[in-house]
Amino acid sequence: MNQQQTLNDLRDIVHNANSKWWVDPITREPKIRNVGELLMLVTSELAEALEGDRKGLMDTHLPNRPMLEVELADAIIRILDMAGGMKLDIGGAFADKMAYNSQRADHKLENRAKEGGKKY
Ligand SMILES: [Mg+2]
Repeated sequence: MNQQQTLNDLRDIVHNANSKWWVDPITREPKIRNVGELLMLVTSELAEALEGDRKGLMDTHLPNRPMLEVELADAIIRILDMAGGMKLDIGGAFADKMAYNSQRADHKLENRAKEGGKKY
């Protein structure tokens, strides 16, 4: 199985597991999700990851795991759920971007070492 199919399969699994967030809890009618809201939910998970790492915290829900690890998983879940809900080919985009990035001149170490090169 290629990475494109694997990620799209994960997208579908995650979105199916989170389908309750895509309906109105009272009417049970499908709910239109706002792109900005969905992106900020991803951002909030990343902020939680930063805070966990900054303070060296273990996760409160999964106390056997570092908060950094769990919140990164939450961010991935949010992204895959969003991609599923919006019917995005996240697997295809991922494979294409990985291939593109592997050839980028501005990512090569010799170019990063030059004046004005990307430091991170
Ligand atoms: Mg979280």
